Amino acid sequence: MPTTSKYNNPALQRKLTFWEKLYLPEIIRGLFTTFKHLFRPKFTRQYPEERWDPPASFRGRPVLVMEDNGVERCVACGLCSRVCPPLAIEVRASETELLKERYPVVFEINMLRCIFCGYCEEVCPEEAIIMSKDYELSFRDPADGIFGKDKLLIPKAQLKDRLDFLAAMRN
Ligand code: SF4
Ligand code: SF4
Repeated sequence: MPTTSKYNNPALQRKLTFWEKLYLPEIIRGLFTTFKHLFRPKFTRQYPEERWDPPASFRGRPVLVMEDNGVERCVACGLCSRVCPPLAIEVRASETELLKERYPVVFEINMLRCIFCGYCEEVCPEEAIIMSKDYELSFRDPADGIFGKDKLLIPKAQLKDRLDFLAAMRN
C-alpha cells in the first residue's frame, strides 16, 4: 500500500511565492550567504599540517611511565588489567633484582579494544599507567593494534603535563 508523506501530499506542501518560483533570487540569496562566510573566522584545522596539542586533561591512548633510569614504574600488580572494561590489558609479572620486587615481563594493551576510559590510570597505585596526549592511532593489520612495552613505555619527562595534572587533581 503506497504511503503518503509530506513530499507527495499536496495538502501539506507549501505554496511557492512568485519570486520563489523564479528560483534566481533564492540562488542569489544562497550565494550571498556563502560569500558572507568567506570573511568570517575559520574553524577548520588543516590536519595533518596543523596539529592539535591537546590540554593535559585530554585522555589519549594509555602509556606506561618510564623513569629516568629507563625502568618502568609498573610493579605488575595487575589492577589495571582487572578493572579494564573491554579486557584490553595483559600483564605478566616476573621478579627483578632491582629495589622493587616485581616488574611486568609482558605488558600489552590491545588498542583496538581500548575505549580510553582511563580506569587503568585511576586504579594504578604507582601512577605507572597514565593517559597520554596521543590520539593518532591507525593500523593496517589488527595485530599492529597490540602495543607492547616497546610502544607503551614513554620517558617521564615527555609526560610531565599529565603527571602534573594528576598531581593537581589528587591534591
Ligand atoms: S583506558 Fe580503559 S579501556 Fe583503555 S586500557 Fe585503560 S582501562 Fe582499558
Ligand atoms: S600499570 Fe599500575 S595497575 Fe597496572 S599492573 Fe602496573 S602497577 Fe599495577
